[in-house]
Amino acid sequence: MTVVDRQEWDVVVVGAGGAGLRAAIEARERGARTAVICKSLFGKAHTVMAEGGIAAAMANVNTGDNWKVHFRDTLRGGKFLNQWRMAELHAQEAPQRVWELETWGALFDRTKDGRISQRNFGGHEYPRLAHVGDRTGLELIRTLQQKIVALQQEDFRETGDYESRLKVFQECTVTRVLKDGRHVSGVFGYERESGRFFVLQAPAVVLSTGGIGKSFKVTSNSWEYTGDGHALALLAGAPLLNMEFVQFHPTGMVWPPSVKGILVTESVRGDGGVLRNSEGKRFMFDYVPDVFKEKYAESEEEGDRWYDDPDHNRRPPELLPRDEVARAINAEVKAGRGSPHGGVFLDVSTRMPAEVIKRRLPSMYHQFKELADVDITAEAMEVGPTCHYVMGGVAVDSDTAATRGVPGLFAAGEVAGGMHGSNRLGGNSLSDLLVFGRRAGRHAAEHAAGQVRERPRVDDVQVDAAAAEALRPFSAESGAGEEGDGSPPENPYTLHQELQQTMNDLVGIIRREHEMEQALRKLAELRVRARRAGVEGHRQFNPGWHLALDLRNMLLVSECVARAALERTESRGGHTREDHSAMERAWRNVNLLCAMADPTGGVAATAPERGQIVLTRETTEPIRPDLLALFEKEELVKYLTEEELYE
Ligand code: FAD
Repeated sequence: MTVVDRQEWDVVVVGAGGAGLRAAIEARERGARTAVICKSLFGKAHTVMAEGGIAAAMANVNTGDNWKVHFRDTLRGGKFLNQWRMAELHAQEAPQRVWELETWGALFDRTKDGRISQRNFGGHEYPRLAHVGDRTGLELIRTLQQKIVALQQEDFRETGDYESRLKVFQECTVTRVLKDGRHVSGVFGYERESGRFFVLQAPAVVLSTGGIGKSFKVTSNSWEYTGDGHALALLAGAPLLNMEFVQFHPTGMVWPPSVKGILVTESVRGDGGVLRNSEGKRFMFDYVPDVFKEKYAESEEEGDRWYDDPDHNRRPPELLPRDEVARAINAEVKAGRGSPHGGVFLDVSTRMPAEVIKRRLPSMYHQFKELADVDITAEAMEVGPTCHYVMGGVAVDSDTAATRGVPGLFAAGEVAGGMHGSNRLGGNSLSDLLVFGRRAGRHAAEHAAGQVRERPRVDDVQVDAAAAEALRPFSAESGAGEEGDGSPPENPYTLHQELQQTMNDLVGIIRREHEMEQALRKLAELRVRARRAGVEGHRQFNPGWHLALDLRNMLLVSECVARAALERTESRGGHTREDHSAMERAWRNVNLLCAMADPTGGVAATAPERGQIVLTRETTEPIRPDLLALFEKEELVKYLTEEELYE
């Protein structure tokens, strides 16, 4: 039996971004002894990178705003495929979560009369994003961290131990969720620094591991985004929902190559920035789709007037939802009207005085100055689409964040699916993290409290199997080849590079049937080779080993994306098919679910070319009539199926 450190907790939260920290705070406040695990240093999660703001209908800048308008915008942005109950809860609860942050010490930018300031963003009818310059995520994490420290100090006063009820395990990676029958019994993981294995036994586990961007070559995402939580859920038997929906943010840096993909925040456009092609044309006016025509300006003059008088003018099309803008940029570049380095121009220099740009967009100013030697107060930026966010994710219950079929397993934040439908509006992630992080923490704590008498037990066979799986890259070092064919071990970095290139080229922003089939064949090949991913050295400080383990997750998740994208024969939100370019009403109420073909989590039982994932369709729950009544009938006709309209 493998020797591993073992500890017992009530709730284990995997991930210390906004969702994980909010879940942990809630679980601890409800009396659960809570452990938080994260791959990076505490406070370094991806959430720190969030720039533009947090969407909440507080109506501080325009009194016309309220949760119903926010709900409507969110459904329009997601092209009505959102899990509507999540969108409802999110719109209703987001303001409370922002005010709560303020009471915990967050310092948001203010309006002239002292209220929390709110800025414009794509797809939001009113200025709605509470922000701290363009460093909102940093303030959010700082505040949640501070709250955790405050709770630990409270615990110290009572128990003499800061970590008695809330402990953070930083620089640790979870590789398996453990189960007792159907029930969650804990997690298996390793310390990244020492390579030591550990088990945290707990009846409730919250997955809050963020996104999947590192499976794509050009991405705004950090190194942590390897789809771990998605894979952990799949391997534990919980399905993923609508994985075809991957958001390509329209504006990433395109030059120099070393920074390609780094995000250029949407606040640039929200604050007045405009997109132009190589002919100097503001091309977005040519790309307003029919479903949005009534809401967007038809001329530059009207669009510009909107910034000062939003009640009597329509918004400029640069503020369309992200999927529309990303496709438009892609089309301009393809038509030969791109910038020198394969993007388009984003200009604020002719729209705002230099000191306003530096005050409102300080990070962007420094980012371009330091990384590209471009002064955005004097010249235009070059930008192009970058893989940014995954709308698909672990299928969850809207109210409780519980996964399907695995009692005790919860998911919140970017790792969870449903909330954003086929396309997320900017700012709706940070609010999602807080609303559903809190809900997940609450329900995980309640679940754990219900298991006090008889806790699920950790199965040593599973622990041994998890340890053997984690150690496999070291035995591939012998050169014998796991498959017994004498082939040499594979380099995990090469495999990762090939995976990223495949997803970028074949399952990227514009998708075609034959390319996705090609991608699935390549993924099958990579999967076989990844079983021979070998590393040198030992378990201490070994990044090659970490990557070899992450590959399992990226390959699983990539297969889900490719399979679901191949299945959905329409274009909707973050899923664009060249061969099925229209949004089809018949697909409006169809969810695609991905599950492991071999429920034991192994791969042996499945032929590699058939893949590891099985895909099923389900019909979405009908949207509640009082929520449908928030929309004009003419608008619903554009989205809903015949049967839904009839009903
Ligand atoms: P994260 O913050 O990524 O946290 C994931 C955590 O899980 C990390 O602690 C990580 O270490 C841990 N983890 C992962 N795998 C494991 C494992 N196997 N074991 C242990 N721990 C693990 N959204 C907005 O709403 N507004 C914005 O302005 C905005 N700006 C953005 C700017 C950029 C550049 C980017 C990339 C995204 C932006 N987003 C924004 C999106 C938003 O930041 C993310 O969707 C959100 O922060 C995700 O939060 P999370 O809590 O789900 O995950």
